[in-house]
Amino acid sequence: MNGQTLVSKTPVKKSLIMAAFKDLDHCNYFPLESEDLIAVAWLNKDSTFEKGPVEEQFFRKLCVLTSEPWQPVVSAGIHLCELCQFDAPGFFENVFIPYQGKIFVAPVAIVHYISAHWYQPPPIFVEAVLACPPMKSMEYKKALLNNGGRDLVKAIGYL
Ligand SMILES: [Zn+2]
Repeated sequence: MNGQTLVSKTPVKKSLIMAAFKDLDHCNYFPLESEDLIAVAWLNKDSTFEKGPVEEQFFRKLCVLTSEPWQPVVSAGIHLCELCQFDAPGFFENVFIPYQGKIFVAPVAIVHYISAHWYQPPPIFVEAVLACPPMKSMEYKKALLNNGGRDLVKAIGYL
């Protein structure tokens, strides 16, 4: 399989429905053959998750990383928050955080989940975010490559 065939530019209807994964489970949402994608904050109305405060330093860093996240695939769907009672916001992008031989992937909705719904991500994800280089920097690209993200990087001709 070459990199080109991994990228779907056609919107797929079923992806309009929010996919849900348990925290730290393998995330197979993307049309990429990577075993190293670990799901964080893929929540829907049936999800059970940890609730509580997070360090503001972590939250602010996550806000910066999710403001302009690097995307290996064209986003085909929208993540609507299913935890809101009214006026749920929608999110289109995902954030990829390489750390300790894995790549964590969270919908950018994670910022909203933390802020509005007191979602508490796994401690390893907090560590990963605090250690993550700036998006689109050479260090970030290197971190992706060093943590199993070669296929992700190749998928958009980033190499
Ligand atoms: Zn919400």
